[in-house]
Amino acid sequence: MPGYHRPMDAPRLSVAITIDHDAISDAIRRGDPPVTVSHAEFGPRVGIKRILALLAERSIPATFFVPGHSLTTFIDDTDAILAGGHELGCHGWFHEDFAELADDEARAVLDRSIEAVRAVTGAAPAGWRAPYWSLGKSTLGLVEAAGFVYDSSLMADDYRLYRVRHGDRHSMTDGTTWGQPGSLVEVPVYWAMDDWPQFEPAPNRAGLKAPSAVLEIWTEELRYAHRHAPGGLVMITVHPECIGRGHRMAMLERFIDAAAALDGVAFERLDVVVARWSAAQT
Ligand SMILES: [Zn+2]
Repeated sequence: MPGYHRPMDAPRLSVAITIDHDAISDAIRRGDPPVTVSHAEFGPRVGIKRILALLAERSIPATFFVPGHSLTTFIDDTDAILAGGHELGCHGWFHEDFAELADDEARAVLDRSIEAVRAVTGAAPAGWRAPYWSLGKSTLGLVEAAGFVYDSSLMADDYRLYRVRHGDRHSMTDGTTWGQPGSLVEVPVYWAMDDWPQFEPAPNRAGLKAPSAVLEIWTEELRYAHRHAPGGLVMITVHPECIGRGHRMAMLERFIDAAAALDGVAFERLDVVVARWSAAQT
């Protein structure tokens, strides 16, 4: 495996704040009851405003993954995201579970989402993140064919980007045959770096943790990566309906403070990180 390679123009450590603006897209697709829909509505009503204000106050560019329903329903949020200089990536239309979609259904959702972004930015989006980080076996091939530059749904690395492999084969008798990497770049995710499994009281989750416990995890990741992964990326994933509660916003402020206090840290959009990484590959 290659060691850490820091391109000449890379910061010591990149930090990316990624925001999945799901809003009510999956709650209404599932036909959830009113309290669940209201929990989701907190995102566009309160949470995203607080996040955008914090990013503006600290002059931090970020990446927003927005389902098509959120993008078109809460158009003021979309406008504010773009006015703030942030990146807009795709995240399904109604936050579909792509593991449950047939290929033609998945293609249709991808195409519709791309066109919705193009309608507001004038350009195709570079990035895609699977809703629920849930993928069917062919999903990333469809994402690559749709023209996306990067995906952010897999977990095979932490601070380093890599190319998505297609066509791995695993046989009980003949073992594993690795597929070939395509053009799609992976920006890896992880549950511990996502606010949702930390804070939301879903089944099998601890839920509703103290922010201090999560802040410890996130800042230790910063310190470890800063020391051991020069040129690497620490990325967090947050949801406005989750991180937007006051006690968690206070934690996000402290996380940003901790990152800014480290030497050579740059807050960056994912498309910027991916473009620099791609240019450094030979
Ligand atoms: Zn989502």
